[in-house]
Amino acid sequence: MSTTPASAPSPHRVLPTARPDDDEIRPLKPPVDPTTLVHAQIRRDEFWRNIPAYADVSYEQFIDHAWQSKHTITRPEKLIETLKDHVSPEFLADVNAGFHKAPMSLRISPYILSLIDWREPYGDPLRIQFVPVASRLLPDHPKLGLDSLHEQADAPVPGLTHRYPDKALFLPLDTCPVYCRFCTRSYAVGVDTDEVEKVQLKAKPERWQRAFKYIASRPELEDIVVSGGDTYNLRAQQLLEIGETLLAMPNIRRIRFATKGPAVMPQKLLTDDAWVDALTRVVELGRKLHKDVVVHTHFNHPNEITGITHDGLNRLQERGIFVRNQSVLQRGVNDTVETMRLLIKRLGHVNVHPYYVYVHDLVQGVEDLRTTLDTALVLEKHIRGSTAGFNTPTFVVDAPGGGGKRDAHSFEHYDRDNGISVFTSPAVKEGQFYLYYDPLHLLSPEAQARWADPQEQYRIITNAIERAKGKIRP
Ligand SMILES: *Cc1c(COP(=O)(O)O)cnc(C)c1O
Ligand code: SF4
Repeated sequence: MSTTPASAPSPHRVLPTARPDDDEIRPLKPPVDPTTLVHAQIRRDEFWRNIPAYADVSYEQFIDHAWQSKHTITRPEKLIETLKDHVSPEFLADVNAGFHKAPMSLRISPYILSLIDWREPYGDPLRIQFVPVASRLLPDHPKLGLDSLHEQADAPVPGLTHRYPDKALFLPLDTCPVYCRFCTRSYAVGVDTDEVEKVQLKAKPERWQRAFKYIASRPELEDIVVSGGDTYNLRAQQLLEIGETLLAMPNIRRIRFATKGPAVMPQKLLTDDAWVDALTRVVELGRKLHKDVVVHTHFNHPNEITGITHDGLNRLQERGIFVRNQSVLQRGVNDTVETMRLLIKRLGHVNVHPYYVYVHDLVQGVEDLRTTLDTALVLEKHIRGSTAGFNTPTFVVDAPGGGGKRDAHSFEHYDRDNGISVFTSPAVKEGQFYLYYDPLHLLSPEAQARWADPQEQYRIITNAIERAKGKIRP
């Protein structure tokens, strides 16, 4: 069967000028200057030595995951102490005030800390993701709440979300190697902050047993996402236990271990042999049972990828461990075509397949990080075609209210003036409408005034749903 339209030239045509004995190359376009292939230029300098506190840290020390964990910063006072004399006192005061208003607790690895350009901290894409500053915070959208994805409402057992027919999300624990400002699970992940008292999801054997029992009792469940919290924070033995238990269930065909780790502490892939060996054993057991076990990770910016990352990922590649990436689209981090393209090309270069780019969820306290649905649509258009199709991510909206992930382009209606889009999710819940809201500060002053008026809010929402209903065939 040919998929080539009749009017297009055959892909197999022979160029009229080519003769079998003609070994001359006829360039159709000139080769690019290799220095412009920035995605393949991965830094291998000792960048951490720029931070006064790490100036004497050797390469061997810096790639030791135990050193990284031990020096991970978890108190704002410690961060301020590490950075003082390196950044201005005004900036530090701004950080301090930012933490008091933040829904997420602080946890930042020396690796990430030293990749931040502290000479220009306000615009740095890594600073923006991990260190809040009070002066840049914006009020939340009026329709925004904690756990906007209804993960808890769809949980038959605490920490097990069964929303889709054949797959479920298992949260074995509630800690991560770092804490991201934008975390969708700020309702559970991390320790309590001034702003949020967390739901507890400890790594408790009884809770895990209940989750396993539920998974085994549902023949339709084939696919388990082990997330958290973060798989990096499971001990090797725990990782093995979860993997072996799930693989032993005849209904389970696929497991993904989700971890931010490779993006924020790649050292573990190089020096935590017990953990990497446990992961390898689960992958190999899966292979023996003809089941799919992969890693899902979470890079958001090309600066997160260094020579240490490349070496760590090469180790997984050598063991035949497949890695996919899920990014979160964030304003000032990866919301330009140039940055997103560089991220995707660089991920491809280190053998990570870009899978999803999430339009930022409606998360409390991070309105400065969100951008419009339209931004995602524009990025997708410009990125598709720059590299292999399997390395081109799908841009998705995780529909607030539990609709699940929807292709960003699949909205039933999008009112760009008022920043409201309507999605449906027939495979998850027939007949239901799911609404996504663009951040108010990117709308016109008139639209912002409308959202400030509860009656106008009601009118905007009912109008959007009516328009969506009109488009859907019965
Ligand atoms: C994202 C997610 C999954 C996995 O979805 P995919 O589209 O297959 O990656 C499963 N369950 C829940 C609750 C999720 O949020
Ligand atoms: S690593 Fe993932 S789960 Fe952990 S804080 Fe960041 S976004 Fe949340």
